[in-house]
Amino acid sequence: MRVEGQCHCGAIHYEAEVEHGSMRLCHCLDRQTLTGAPFRASIQAPAETFRLLAGEPRKYIKTADSGAKRVHAFCGECGAPVFACAPVAPTSYSLRVGALKQRSELGNPAGQIWTKRRLPWAPPLNGVPESEGQP
Ligand SMILES: [Zn+2]
Repeated sequence: MRVEGQCHCGAIHYEAEVEHGSMRLCHCLDRQTLTGAPFRASIQAPAETFRLLAGEPRKYIKTADSGAKRVHAFCGECGAPVFACAPVAPTSYSLRVGALKQRSELGNPAGQIWTKRRLPWAPPLNGVPESEGQP
């Protein structure tokens, strides 16, 4: 399905194709810090379907404990996260669900990871498969 996204101030606009029902949640500590939220919801879009329509996001390169690097793109004006991707020749973009116009039409999450970092007050999500760490 086609989705359109934009940051909070509207400087950055983009569109892409995603698969309905393929959203994933991550409860890891990095995601909590990067979002300021208890977990992050993302959905993958194949690189060939992703089109930046307006604006140029700023990029933060996160280095994992494994040494793997990942680009975290955000709006330099309003700070809203917009996507993540590989630093070189990305094959997909991980779109931030909260920035998508169709965010309520994507279906239920297909899975959630790093649930051992889930905040103690957050209830388990009924029927959403869990992985305690990185699958
Ligand atoms: Zn913005």
